[in-house]
Amino acid sequence: MTTTALSPAVSPEREASLLASVPTGLLINGEWRDASDGGTFDVHDPATGEVLATLASATSADAAAALDAADAAQAGWARTAPRVRSEILRRAFDLVTERAEDFALLMTLEMGKPLAEARGEVTYGAEFLRWFSEETVRDYGRYLTTPEGKNKILVQHKPVGPCLLITPWNFPLAMATRKVAPAVAAGCTMVLKPAKLTPLTAQYFAQTMLDAGLPAGVLNVVASSSASGISGPLLSDPRLRKVSFTGSTPVGKRLIADAAQNVLRTSMELGGNAPFIVFDDADLDAAVEGAMAAKMRNMGEACTAANRFLVHESVAQEFTRKFAAAMAALTTGRGTHPDTKVGPLIDGGARDDVHALVSAAVDAGAVAVTGGAPVDGPGYFYQPTVLANVPNNAAILGEEIFGPVAPVTTFSSEEDAIRLANASEYGLASYLYSRDFNRLLRVAEQIEFGMVGFNAGVISNAAAPFGGVKQSGLGREGGSEGIAEYTTTQYIGIADPYASQ
Ligand code: NAD
Repeated sequence: MTTTALSPAVSPEREASLLASVPTGLLINGEWRDASDGGTFDVHDPATGEVLATLASATSADAAAALDAADAAQAGWARTAPRVRSEILRRAFDLVTERAEDFALLMTLEMGKPLAEARGEVTYGAEFLRWFSEETVRDYGRYLTTPEGKNKILVQHKPVGPCLLITPWNFPLAMATRKVAPAVAAGCTMVLKPAKLTPLTAQYFAQTMLDAGLPAGVLNVVASSSASGISGPLLSDPRLRKVSFTGSTPVGKRLIADAAQNVLRTSMELGGNAPFIVFDDADLDAAVEGAMAAKMRNMGEACTAANRFLVHESVAQEFTRKFAAAMAALTTGRGTHPDTKVGPLIDGGARDDVHALVSAAVDAGAVAVTGGAPVDGPGYFYQPTVLANVPNNAAILGEEIFGPVAPVTTFSSEEDAIRLANASEYGLASYLYSRDFNRLLRVAEQIEFGMVGFNAGVISNAAAPFGGVKQSGLGREGGSEGIAEYTTTQYIGIADPYASQ
């Protein structure tokens, strides 16, 4: 592993002028304003620890004002023509694409991911705007005759109503567009609370939605240093009709419990513990390439990150050797440097947690084939790490690592691989490598995961239903399923039209 100098390849003037263009207030009813108590919080660069910006920190009263605006806008917004909402989303897609370099740099600055990856997230995140622009005008209902042949059934979809959208820090743009775009498509108004570690991208995105023509009050944004101070009062307010959350399973469970009070619709995109299974008939070079993508995207800080490498015992040694060589060749550094392949972790606590899991695994008998330690210096860097001989009961195989660490363990039969993969309370993404298509299908049918990659290390796509089973969540984002999360179904029973003849 090599480390780049921290000197940025992007000029400090460019960074400063972009940061100065990001709104720092709360977006309520189409206007950026200060917090009601004047409170603020700082946003840091995880590569240096330095302060990037200071934002208004919403209070409970600000959250209530945001819901006032969303509630007031709801009825009129629900009645807008689908084509109007569709074209706002399409303009937003065009604007995000035009501003791609700004969005990418902002994400690199506040979150740490290398610029090339941040650009990839802009493409992925913008695609939700285009996809749901197209879905807006195709939200079909149905009309049919009752089975006994007399009466008629009319089924229509209506917007669920004002929504609270809570997003995590790891994909600052895509996690916002994945919720905002279908909510706009369905005709819902929103209060968005971005993560306090990476709110700048969401602020810039909200301004972009206004620039695309989104009416005042439809999207309100309340960044805050107190997440529960925002969610608590909103979830107990009868005007709120839905909460959509992406984040950790423990916080998701708490929000589900709070949402029960008013029987709110919930969408939960929670944690994962993805198995990456390499069968003995796999193309090992393709598997290593897929493993690099599935593990190292976002420095491993992804809910879809391969968390456990289950490799057939006959190919484990060769796979591990090739995988460790590829990991050792990665360059760590500030994301703005063109040579950087691995940025910092989000903060010091995250880095300590990763190292604690690695140390415990090594104490239990695992071997660090490459890496295994934090990187000295400013920022929260961790060495790309491959651990071999990891015992099956090691904590690192059961918990989300959220870092650039790949534990490898072995299996001896297909049944064994399925049993190990399913031995988790999570069920989000999974990856299978084999040349035998029937085997891939057979295993996919038996593993309890919402998403399965066949010989593919990256599977997220706006056109596909993203989501998990078990404690990885409820509901789907993207695909034709995504808009349904923001609509409610109304059935109209129509008496026999011939009865009055
Ligand atoms: P987190 O649960 O700590 O925070 C997520 C969001 O919830 C943030 O906006 C945070 O401010 C807010 N929050 C925290 N405590 C809250 C509370 N008590 N009440 C209301 N809101 C609260 O998660 P994180 O560390 O930001 O993100 C990492 C987690 O997100 C990982 O577990 C990862 O797997 C998961 N994730 C899941 C998906 C998915 O689609 N399934 C995608 C990305 C991340």
